[in-house]
Amino acid sequence: MRNSKPHAGNSFDFYKKVLKSKRDKDLKIFLAPYADDIEKLYKIYDDNFDSDSLALLKSRGFSENECTNLKELYKYSAKAFVDLRTELTTTENGREVHCQYCTLSITNTFDHFVPQEEFAEFTIHPRNLHCCCSQCNSKKSNFWRDNDKTLFLNLYKDILPEDQYLFATIKVDDKAVTVEFKLENNTSIDTDLFALIETHYNKMGLFERFIEVSDGVISRFLSDLKAFDEPILSVNSLKVVKKQIESERNAMGRNYWQSILKLALLECKDFMNLLNF
Ligand SMILES: [Zn+2]
Repeated sequence: MRNSKPHAGNSFDFYKKVLKSKRDKDLKIFLAPYADDIEKLYKIYDDNFDSDSLALLKSRGFSENECTNLKELYKYSAKAFVDLRTELTTTENGREVHCQYCTLSITNTFDHFVPQEEFAEFTIHPRNLHCCCSQCNSKKSNFWRDNDKTLFLNLYKDILPEDQYLFATIKVDDKAVTVEFKLENNTSIDTDLFALIETHYNKMGLFERFIEVSDGVISRFLSDLKAFDEPILSVNSLKVVKKQIESERNAMGRNYWQSILKLALLECKDFMNLLNF
């Protein structure tokens, strides 16, 4: 899980660009008189975004027909959105293809951080759009805030701690390896941020989703370790393995679940004894 940079350009310019690119003349005629209103609303969104208070946004309350027309502006495959995706997923290390809400799946949709069902006016606000996978998008749904607090990480704004907060516990029964994940704040991570990380992991069902695919990670890791052909891993081999994990953590985030799992496996004597079989 890593932070990403929001759209660098002016938000309302993006709105105008999308509206201009639409072929539907009736939609353009319908939305033309709303331009000033939308520009003001976009400014409010940007102010709340800058002051970390998106959870305090109040819906403008457009009619059902107005909402339908505003939502018509969004089309995942349209050029403006393809360009936006390219911008948002391009990092100094190349394209980031993984959904950062889960780091499990490839991104194939946009999450509207502030849901379009409640805020049709922000359907195409570029800072409201987050590249993600469809599973995370449906888990997030429209329930995104509670008591003026957001329930999901906004990876443009909520800066992830460098410290470890995800931990894995390994159990080996005969040759069957199982894992449990938990979150712990052992290093004074800001309590509000840690609480947000907890609600994000819980509501996205991340522990269950990690466990569903952890068997594959564990067996691949065991066969990588067996490739050293040493019943007890030498100091040098261990150094190589830890270097690989470190590089994975730099690329995928300090709390990347696969790296945390592998580090816990290295620490588990019963697991390391499996190298003898
Ligand atoms: Zn996801």
